[in-house]
Amino acid sequence: MIIHHPSDDLIAAYAAGSLDEANSLALATHLTLCPQCRHAYAGFEALGGTMVEEMELAPMKADALLATLGRARSDTTIVAERRPAVKSPVAKSGQAPLFPMPLQFYVGGDLDAAKWKTLGPGIQHMPLISTDGVTARLLRIAPGQAVFEHSHQGNELTLVLRGSYTAGGDRYARGDLEMADAEINHRPVAGSEDVCVCLAVTDAPLRFGNWLGRLMQPFIGI
Ligand SMILES: [Zn+2]
Repeated sequence: MIIHHPSDDLIAAYAAGSLDEANSLALATHLTLCPQCRHAYAGFEALGGTMVEEMELAPMKADALLATLGRARSDTTIVAERRPAVKSPVAKSGQAPLFPMPLQFYVGGDLDAAKWKTLGPGIQHMPLISTDGVTARLLRIAPGQAVFEHSHQGNELTLVLRGSYTAGGDRYARGDLEMADAEINHRPVAGSEDVCVCLAVTDAPLRFGNWLGRLMQPFIGI
């Protein structure tokens, strides 16, 4: 059961096509897992359609709005167009895939297709998107492992795909999406029951709160 969802503002921005590629990937992936947010998304899309119909009654402004919506539409197609070849859309074992389709386009398949690089003890990542300072990466954290304490200069979205983690007294499991901003200084800890795999989107470099994190930041590039 999903407890943590994106805000309505974020879903509306995604429906309007005004999110960048990395945040669009996080929203598309969450929506694939979450009927509640798909419902909200459909509502915002319908609202956008109604706005277009109303603007047709006011021809002076219709062109400008349609131009804006046209631009928005082309933005939302980025995620679909920028797909690398998908090698194994369905897990070979016959199990349901761990990664929803939008994510598989970027990884090139399910979890077994991910190519991990070590970030630190018990933490690996796979960069997926880096556009205009906004990055999306997969993180793989060993059971019970604490991530470096860090705060944010910008926003961070974290979507859990496997296992769980705890941060700020809240637990996040598959499908949950945590929204963190510059006010939050946290130290997520992976659940002890399983490896934790998440999709993380950041729009500014993280600020690490301990000396090890600060020491490693120039080398790991996050
Ligand atoms: Zn949701």
